Parts: sequence; structure tokens; C-alpha cells
Amino acid sequence: MCRSLSIIALAKGNYMTQLLSETYLDYSDILIRPKMGINLNSRKDVNLQRVFKFKHGQTRTGLGVFNANMATVGNFVVAKKLLARGMFATIHKHYTPDEIGAFFESCHKEDISIDNLFISIGLKNTDAEIQKLKDLESKYNWKSPRNICIDAPNFYIQKALDVLERVRTEFPDSVIMAGNIASGDICLKLLDYADIIKCGIGSGSACLTRKQTGCGTPMVSLILECADIAHSVNGHICADGGIVDIGDICKALCLNADFVMAGGMFAGTDEAEGDIIEKHYETNEIVDGAPVIQTKQFKAYYGMSSEYANNKFAGGMSNYKTSEGRELLIPYTGALDKILQDITGGIASCCTYIGAASVKHMAKCATIIQVHNQLNRVFEKYSV
Ligand code: 5GP
Repeated sequence: MCRSLSIIALAKGNYMTQLLSETYLDYSDILIRPKMGINLNSRKDVNLQRVFKFKHGQTRTGLGVFNANMATVGNFVVAKKLLARGMFATIHKHYTPDEIGAFFESCHKEDISIDNLFISIGLKNTDAEIQKLKDLESKYNWKSPRNICIDAPNFYIQKALDVLERVRTEFPDSVIMAGNIASGDICLKLLDYADIIKCGIGSGSACLTRKQTGCGTPMVSLILECADIAHSVNGHICADGGIVDIGDICKALCLNADFVMAGGMFAGTDEAEGDIIEKHYETNEIVDGAPVIQTKQFKAYYGMSSEYANNKFAGGMSNYKTSEGRELLIPYTGALDKILQDITGGIASCCTYIGAASVKHMAKCATIIQVHNQLNRVFEKYSV
């Protein structure tokens, strides 16, 4: 999508604020138009596995779907289920090397490959984070293939670039995913050291960044912009945040995202952190003179920049910060396996609608249309 630039002059000294007048689109603004392509008779004929050849030399194979590296869904149980299904997985940055070592062991016993597992680190205490990775290497035989996710809500700071460069120097043969960013201009710089750029700021379901800072970029336009730049130098991108329906994962892949990361989609499952919380509601129905009580089940989901997460992991909110994450109670959705199966089923079906024999070909085969109304929601409130 080419950018038409109209610049409104708000001249102040030598600076001018730029207004990009083209509308940036989100998943809900588009649909994938079905079309006749190669003859695919069944969803089971679609190849969901893709071979990724990364910029810094490594190769991995899998379906490019990740769980978010958040405390709630970036846990061992969720990660293991995604890995077992041939997907990719992250674990959050608050696990110790001993805990991660025990996780490696349990995967090994169940014959689950950890080749597609990404270990997350943050920007704070870089020495300690590097040491944690070195401990994994020395004590738990964490050797190639190994993958690292450098996680920062905002990668537009020099510190983030410095940490990325240092991690690449210390772990030259790792696959490194770095982010988050929300514009194409920074992609080339990151790809000097990273293999995958994590794109998306403000789209997350537990995110308050757009409300608190006004910053962010809608996902569809962002994916198009970043994929175009990253692919020109053999880099890859991961579209992170804003997945509401499985169709949005299909859309991201059709737009040329190599990977898609989701948090909220997995957060209501048995495998996500925390217990099921029950709430009781009085209904309008009266039986024997008393209102019928309905019970609904929920799970807690919180952003990693929420006050709750800051209290839990960082000893409280610093006084120069505002909370950029929500704390939510979201509907309980049952077993993660059911959602994972719906994801593979949804992607395979999308491929048959557009005539793509494999996930790798989705972007080539897709025609994207901009729409005003993507879903018929008339009976939604009657869902059982
Ligand atoms: P979801 O799939 O729930 O829409 O989005 C998940 C993504 O939201 C995560 O991978 C991460 O990039 C982002 N995220 C997680 N916690 C926070 C937070 O507290 N604030 C913001 N701004 N983004 C968050």
C-alpha cells in the first residue's frame, strides 16, 4: 500500500508535524476475497508447515503462530501445547534458568521438540539477562538450535538497540526476535542484528498505550509496510496483538506476516495462568418467586505494563510511569487444544478459499478487500 503524503504545516522553528492522510487499516477493515486458484479439494491437502530461512543463517520449520510472551499465556503449559502442534512458542522473561531447565527436561521426556521455543529477556539488567541465557547454555545444554525474544513495549530507544546488538554478539548463532515497533522506518536497523521483528504497538487486547499516549499503528497497514521492508533484506516479521478472531490470523498471513502472535485468544483457556473465577448473576427469569441465578466463568488476563504486573514483577509502579496495560476478567474458554485445532482448521480452510497449497503461498494467492462491515453480528447476543 503506497502512502499518499499530505503534510499539514504546523511550522514551529524548523519542525513541521506530518499528517499522513491515507487511512491506516486494521483487521476489522478488511476481508480476504475467495477466488479460484489451484485445485485443492480438501483442507487436509494444505501444507501448514513452512521452512523459515532466517537472515542470520538459521532455519526453522513450523506453523508461524506464537503465544504472547506475557505472564498469563507465556507459561510452560501453553508453550508446550503450541510446540506439540508444530507451532512456535515463547516463554515469559520471569522464569529462572532452573525452571526453564526443568521445562526442557519435561519436553524431552514427552518427545516434544523445543527447536521452535523462544526464551524471552527484557531490557532491564542486561548483564543478568545475558547471564541467565549463559546459565541455560552451561547447565542445561541450551545449544543450537536456540531462539531468543528480546521484549520491550517500545523498541524506539537506544537502549533497546544496544541490547539487541549485544545479544547478537554474545549469541551469534541464535534466532533473535526483537520488538515491538510500529513503523517501517526502523526495520532495516533492527535486522542488522535481529531475524524477526515483532510489529504492533497499541493493538493488544490488554493494552492501554493508545489511550494513555495516543501512539500506535493499525495492524493491517503496519504488516504491509514492515513485511515489504523486512522481506527485501531476507528479514521476517511477527504481527503481534489485536487478533480477535482466527480469521485475523489468516488475514495477517495473507498480508505477508511470517508469524502471528496472540495473547488474549489463549488467555481464557485452562492452560493460561490462574484459576477459573465464577461470578453469579440474577436473571430476569423467576422460578418459585425467586430470580434464577446464572453462573459465568472467567479468567484473569493482565497486560505486562499494567499496574498489577508492575506490582507483581517490578516491586510497584515507578512514579514517572503511567499504567499502559489493563487488568481484565475475560470469559473462560476451556481447553487450549480446541482453540489450536480451530486455528489450524481456520488457516487450512482459508487456503482452500484462495487456492493456496501451503501457508507459504497465502500472501501470493490472497486478494484483500477493504470493507465497511466484515461480520454479521445480528444473533451474537443469543450465542450459547
Ligand atoms: P492480544 O493478542 O491480547 O491482542 O495482544 C497481545 C500483545 O499485547 C502482546 O504480545 C504484547 O505485545 C501486547 N501487550 C501485552 N501487555 C501489554 C501491556 O500491558 N501494554 C501494552 N501496550 N501492550 C501489551
